[in-house]
Parts: sequence; C-alpha cells; structure tokens
Amino acid sequence: MSSTVFDDAVNRLSRIGEQTGCSKLVIDALSHANAMLKVHVEVRMDDGHTRYFPGYRCQHNNILGPTKGGIRFHPDVGAQEVQALALWMTLKCAVVDIPFGGAKGGVSVDPKALSPMELERLSRSYVRAMADFIGPERDIPAPDVYTNARIMGWMMDEYEKITRVKNPAVITGKPIALGGSLGRDDATGRGAYLCIKALEQRDCLTPEETTVAVQGFGNGGYHVARLLANDGYKVVAISDSQGGIYRQQGLDVKSVYQQKQDHKELKAVYCDGSVCETVDHDTLSNSELLTKDVDILIPAALDSVITCDNASDIQARYIVEIANGPITSDADAVLKDKGVIVIPDILANAGGVTVSYFEWVQNRTGYRWSKTKVREELKEVMSNAFKRANTLVQEKGLDFRDAVYAVALERLSNAIEAHGTPDYFNGA
Ligand code: NAD
Repeated sequence: MSSTVFDDAVNRLSRIGEQTGCSKLVIDALSHANAMLKVHVEVRMDDGHTRYFPGYRCQHNNILGPTKGGIRFHPDVGAQEVQALALWMTLKCAVVDIPFGGAKGGVSVDPKALSPMELERLSRSYVRAMADFIGPERDIPAPDVYTNARIMGWMMDEYEKITRVKNPAVITGKPIALGGSLGRDDATGRGAYLCIKALEQRDCLTPEETTVAVQGFGNGGYHVARLLANDGYKVVAISDSQGGIYRQQGLDVKSVYQQKQDHKELKAVYCDGSVCETVDHDTLSNSELLTKDVDILIPAALDSVITCDNASDIQARYIVEIANGPITSDADAVLKDKGVIVIPDILANAGGVTVSYFEWVQNRTGYRWSKTKVREELKEVMSNAFKRANTLVQEKGLDFRDAVYAVALERLSNAIEAHGTPDYFNGA
C-alpha cells in the first residue's frame, strides 16, 4: 500500500521525536487519532436532486483540552488528509501553549460548483451530521480552505437550532456581528508576518531588498503579503488555483487583491481608487512559482507541494509554511542540506488558532476584546513561541522544524506522562 499524507506526518513525528529524546509512549500516543467520524452530507441541489458528499471530522488528541481545527471544502478532502491535518493541530496548539487538542474536518466537494444556497445547505447539513461529535467543550471547528466567516455563521446557527441554546463558542472564525473576534480575519497571515519580523531582526534582513513569493492568495496568503508589502518587502510573485503572476519590481498587493475580489481573476494591476490598470508582468505556473529565485517563499495553499522531486530546485533562502504540510518529510533533508531555513506550519500559521482561542474565551466569558488587545496578545504568543524555538536552534543546533516539534512534544509529553509511564506501572 502506498504511503499517505498521514503516514508521512507520523514518520516525521517519529523521526523528530526519536532525535529529540521524546519517549516511545508519547510518539505512540500521537501516532493514532482518538476518533474519526465519516458521514455522507446530504444536500438538496437547486435542481431538486439530492446529492451525498463524503464528510469527515477527526479528533486527533485532546490531552491538552477540547480539540480544535478547521473545516475544509475541497474535492481532494479525504480521511488520510483530515487525520494528518488533525495531528498537526495537536502539535500546533502545544507549540503556542493554548489549551486545545487537535482536530480537523472537511467535505469532499468542489464548492465553486455550488450555488450560494447549495453552499448554505451543505454547511448546515455538515453540522447536522456532526452535531453530537462537536461542541464548545468537546471539539470546536473553524474556517480552512474554501470556508469562511459566513459559513462559520451558518454552522453556528444550525448547531444552536439543534441544541436550542445560544452557543457561539461552538465554532470560531465567525462574523463579528455573530460573536466573532476582532482581528481573527488576518490572524493567520499576521502570525506568519510576526515570524518573518522575528527573522528580520535575527538575520538583519532589509525589507526593501528582500523578495517574497506567495503561493495561494486566500485568507492566509493575502494578509501576509499585504503586511509584508506595507513594511517595504518586495512581493514579486503571487498565485491562486489558476496560476501565478510575477513582477521583478514588486506587485501592488492591495490592487491585486481588489482586482481579484471584483473580477475573480489574479492580474498584475495598479489601482487608483476604482480604476485599475494592468502593469508589466510575467505569468507563471504554481510549480514555477515554488522554484523562483526569491528570498522568502510562502506556500499558502495546499499540502505536499514541495517534495523530493522539486526540493533541490528551490532557490529561496527561507520558506515560511502558511499552508499545512506543504513540504513532505523526505524533502526536509534536501532543503536542510541546501541550507534553506524552514519556519514550519505548526509555528508559522499558528496565529489563526491563537486568535480562535481568544474568540472562544470571549464567547465563554461574554466579554469582548478590542482589536488592539487581540493583536497585542497574538504578538506576545507568537513571539514567545518563536523565541523558545530559536533558543533551541541556536543552543542545540536544531533546525526550526525539529526545534518547534521539540517544544510541542515536551508539552504533550508532560501531559501524557502525568497519567503514568511504563516505569511507574512496573514499579521501577
Ligand atoms: P483560502 O480558501 O482562503 O485560500 C486558498 C487559496 O489557495 C486561494 O487563493 C486558492 O485559489 C488557492 N489555491 C487553491 N488550490 C491551489 C493550488 N492547487 N495551487 C495554488 N493555489 C491554490 O484558504 P486559507 O484559509 O488561506 O488556507 C490556506 C492554507 O493555510 C491551507 O493549507 C490551510 O490549512 C492553512 N491555514 C489556514 C488557516 C486559516 O485561519 N484560514 C490557519 C492555519 C492554516
């Protein structure tokens, strides 16, 4: 049987766990998901027919708290991918030290082929199928690829109709008007941006001389590109599912975004108010973007895009993983040999779950935080996590991925071993 993305995630966990002295007991515990629910999400289509879409929710591990993780609507969603994503959520929550375990969910569907009403029916039907599995103290979903605040609002509403109580803490990433948190919209991109600012300080980078390529121009990719461009970084390449654009002098990120929102196309434009003009640029494929000669590469779309087939062609000095799992474990070694510094997903994209945690706290206490407070707290969490990993990088000579895994595994080990180790039970 061929190896799956979950096998790959477990292989990497085992390798790093062994290298950093984590006990087998802990690696074993994290190599198995607590629970996995597969359903068929029933949707009445606009033409009157009913269709059934495979839906999944995996709760990987809840030793540190209720499980937490996004819901993805994408044709490639499957059991193995959802389990891998849930495992990474367990590690991610431990890295930033928030009291959650890891989960993930999704539906195998092409959401672009659905009408808005079909999308609403799909979202509500998913929650009806999962209502006994999720809950504010059990498992708390959030947005992921091709799901957004509106969809989270529908899902919360459906859950509240089923339980007949107001329960906004059941889901995060909601619209502000429905109990969402200020600052959640750009939290994932901002978390990655804060990691890059920490690298800037550590490695004395000059923003104006630093080029950036971003694969995926959605929630994570857009905000990191916007924040970096605001600081003077040269964002030279951007892509979406259709392909990418490249401009050596740098792209005007806000104009490109405005064009994409208004016309649903990725185009190198400069906008003055509502008037947008095309500027000189090249087009490139998603695979070409990955191997472009830039300083910072930010994969912010799907997993497994950098493998041992293309890792040796990567020219970037830094890779900051906003996507979950964009680099396969066999490509880690190739990139390490090339001296590429990888800020791994479980740190780089942890801003999203961190502000989701703040949203959950606000919903449970009934007290709203200002945007300034959210951003300050996020900065504190991200900067502590980065510093802790960087200390291991500098003192123990680990690479960033190994260092970040070591931080997560230490926290998880403390909790798992508090229930007793084999030595304790053998009276040793
Ligand atoms: P999104 O739906 O907002 O955007 C996804 C983007 O990826 C879109 O621009 C889409 O066009 C592009 N895309 C889709 N298929 C592609 C392909 N084959 N090649 C290149 N681009 C493609 O999703 P998002 O929320 O920004 O999530 C992106 C990644 O970040 C995912 O891996 C997700 O798990 C991860 N992530 C998201 C969050 C969050 O809070 N949204 C948090 C942590 C991690």
